[in-house]
Amino acid sequence: MAIRNIRVEGDPVLAKVCRPVTEMNDHYREILDDMTETMRSADGVGLAAPQVGILRRLVVVEVDDVLYELVNPEIVSTEGEQYGSEGCLSVPGYAGNVKRPMKVTVKALDRNGEPVEYTGEGLLARAFCHELDHLDGIIYTSKADDLHKLGEDEEDSEEDEE
Ligand SMILES: [Zn+2]
Repeated sequence: MAIRNIRVEGDPVLAKVCRPVTEMNDHYREILDDMTETMRSADGVGLAAPQVGILRRLVVVEVDDVLYELVNPEIVSTEGEQYGSEGCLSVPGYAGNVKRPMKVTVKALDRNGEPVEYTGEGLLARAFCHELDHLDGIIYTSKADDLHKLGEDEEDSEEDEE
């Protein structure tokens, strides 16, 4: 496994729509492993492939010590609403409030190409939505209504970066 460079806002790769993975293989499994290592080393709760410069529909999310590897993910249903603070590893030092569904069900393929379905609530639902947006070139800053720079006191706080 290897830690990859995280692209930051302004990098054109983050604005592109990613292509689906047509067949899971060792190449993509290695990318998933690298994404997980990169996410963990940056203390993030999620990472999408374009954030490491790869224009494929691959996402990793880790919430409550459960790792979700999503290949070609799609949201199949949403429920309710939540409004809260969000950050992004590609927009370091900033946070903003974003409206998201409270509960989200995602279907995807796993690392072996087998179909999986996950339902997440709260932070997990928020992370799924945030990461899937990245696959369509959408960064949360375009949805946040009070984007602000984090002060030094806040840098160490509980902001979750995705
Ligand atoms: Zn992000």
